[in-house]
Amino acid sequence: MFTVSSGEQKRSSKPRVVIIGGGFGGLTLAKNLKNAPVDVLMLDRHNYHTFQPLLYQVAMGAIEADSIGFPIRRIFTRQENFSFNMADVHMINPESNTLTTSVGTIHYDYLVVATGSNTNFFGNAQIAHFAMPMKNIPEAFNIRSLILQNLESALVTADMREKFALMTFVVVGGGPTGVELAGALAEMRHLILGKDYHGLSKYDMRVYLVEGKPVVLGSMSPQASGKAQKFLTDSGVVIYNGAHVESYDGFYLKINNGKTIKTRNVFWAAGVKGEMPDGFPAELITKSSRIQTDEISRVKGYRNVFAIGDVAAMITDETPNGHPGVAPAAIQQGEKLAKNLVNLIKGQPTAPFKYRDKGSLATIGRNKAVADLGKIHLSGFIAWVLWGVVHIMSIAGFTSKGIIFLSWAINYFTKNSDNRLVIRYFNTETRMAETECK
Ligand SMILES: Cc1cc2nc3c(=O)[nH]c(=O)nc-3n(C[C@H](O)[C@H](O)[C@H](O)COP(=O)(O)OP(=O)(O)OC[C@H]3O[C@@H](n4cnc5c(N)ncnc54)[C@H](O)[C@@H]3O)c2cc1C
Repeated sequence: MFTVSSGEQKRSSKPRVVIIGGGFGGLTLAKNLKNAPVDVLMLDRHNYHTFQPLLYQVAMGAIEADSIGFPIRRIFTRQENFSFNMADVHMINPESNTLTTSVGTIHYDYLVVATGSNTNFFGNAQIAHFAMPMKNIPEAFNIRSLILQNLESALVTADMREKFALMTFVVVGGGPTGVELAGALAEMRHLILGKDYHGLSKYDMRVYLVEGKPVVLGSMSPQASGKAQKFLTDSGVVIYNGAHVESYDGFYLKINNGKTIKTRNVFWAAGVKGEMPDGFPAELITKSSRIQTDEISRVKGYRNVFAIGDVAAMITDETPNGHPGVAPAAIQQGEKLAKNLVNLIKGQPTAPFKYRDKGSLATIGRNKAVADLGKIHLSGFIAWVLWGVVHIMSIAGFTSKGIIFLSWAINYFTKNSDNRLVIRYFNTETRMAETECK
């Protein structure tokens, strides 16, 4: 075991595997190295793991934030060869096998970059300033506060133009996250607005979804995307397909289909890019900012540096763009790399990674979801129950499973929720500084 001493840690005689990132990939890898002849040091800028698939429910006040975050130390209480430092990794220095971090210089024998992805605003600084991303818990909190603050302001403003903008919600990006968020906003309008906001009419609240592709959920089957489109339209969401946002200045959102929407609420779910420390040569980084690896997740051209999950692009003939940026791909890469690392250390042969696609799910709201399970396509109530079961099963920790299940049950029967609190006032102008810590 290591002991911490001003950032650097004392080393045992075993090889040290440093994992940057306690996300789905990093956690799985560390757990699978439990009985390996290595010391594992995990570094993450947060001291908790985030279950991102339910971030939108935190943003909508459906569940409490703590139930989708898990202390990394708690997960590894019983793993003797594991230790953790809360640290932001700034730079990788492969020539010296070290990392420059917020807690000092850290040495590694094997390095695994599992730093995930971040929101891609495609270089548009104005959109990045005014639109709301949702990749982590602080950002979900920002969205929750913004929605609730704007509804409060809509109640008291005498300016009808402003009231209209405060009550207009635009989700950009019709992938699973955008569809889930748009569905939840539509549900809020139907079930909560009239009940809790006396003085606001649900007919004044508008929800738009802007998607660049001709269909929503373009990565799913035609059956799933068709159903999702219908569920959303039936809930009153206005969908602009094949449309791209051109600009947003905090009030006017301009779309390339000629429409301009007056809105104070723009949620950006239109793209992601790999998130990584500095130090990799530019030629290794793909257009979507992912690190190119070989079939055992080893970063091309490196001996002892690996990358898994959203940040990695394992480019092969079968996967010319790498694997999808989803939790199962990160988990499976973590599992496989644990075996391959042990084999490498023991001088035994390694085996290439093969992704097993177990299917896709997306929910659009109460009793409405879509599921692709190989050739089987489900929609409606059955898919919604399946979505719930899969998510409850996937969340770490018995307590969190229980809290989320209980919250869902109460919300379902009361058609309301108790988490709509403005705990931290959101201010666009201070947002950039506040979320620097991501
Ligand atoms: C809103 C949302 C909904 C989603 N829904 C689904 C879904 O329904 N199903 C699904 O399969 N996938 C979903 N995904 C995608 C899924 O969450 C990702 O594919 C998965 O989290 C990738 O795992 P990872 O281990 O690569 O990275 P992550 O889980 O993102 O973890 C990366 C970790 O690295 C840390 N980190 C990053 N940079 C640094 C640094 N420089 N120093 C220190 N620490 C650092 C971060 O703090 C983070 O803890 C969703 C994603 C989002 C954002």
